[in-house]
Amino acid sequence: MPGRCCVPLCKGNYPTGPKVSVFSFPKNEDLKREWLSAIQRKDFSPKKSSKVCELHFKESDFKVEASAFDSKNGILISAPLQVRRLKENTVPSIFKDYPSVYSSKSSTIVREDPDAKKNCPRVP
Ligand SMILES: [Zn+2]
Repeated sequence: MPGRCCVPLCKGNYPTGPKVSVFSFPKNEDLKREWLSAIQRKDFSPKKSSKVCELHFKESDFKVEASAFDSKNGILISAPLQVRRLKENTVPSIFKDYPSVYSSKSSTIVREDPDAKKNCPRVP
């Protein structure tokens, strides 16, 4: 069973949420700290089982591997990978469901086009 996303308000892989790919926290301590400061979850330290889902990464953060080496048979498989991999040193950057208190930047003057909201359906 895939892990659930640990990001606040994200329903990645929850029974009521979307089915998504999830990623473990990086082993690199510096990078892990960057992930944690991006996620802004209070009093949280990631466990081995803690995951962050693909919804928090940009499309350009993913590696697309078009081939894989099958060590058992010694052949190169050139089918596209079903599982997406993150590029090295990637930090999650998309947290669209966060209330504005989480983001100090958006508390300054940000005027939204009222029409833009119609195109952004809320997940219940
Ligand atoms: Zn998530």
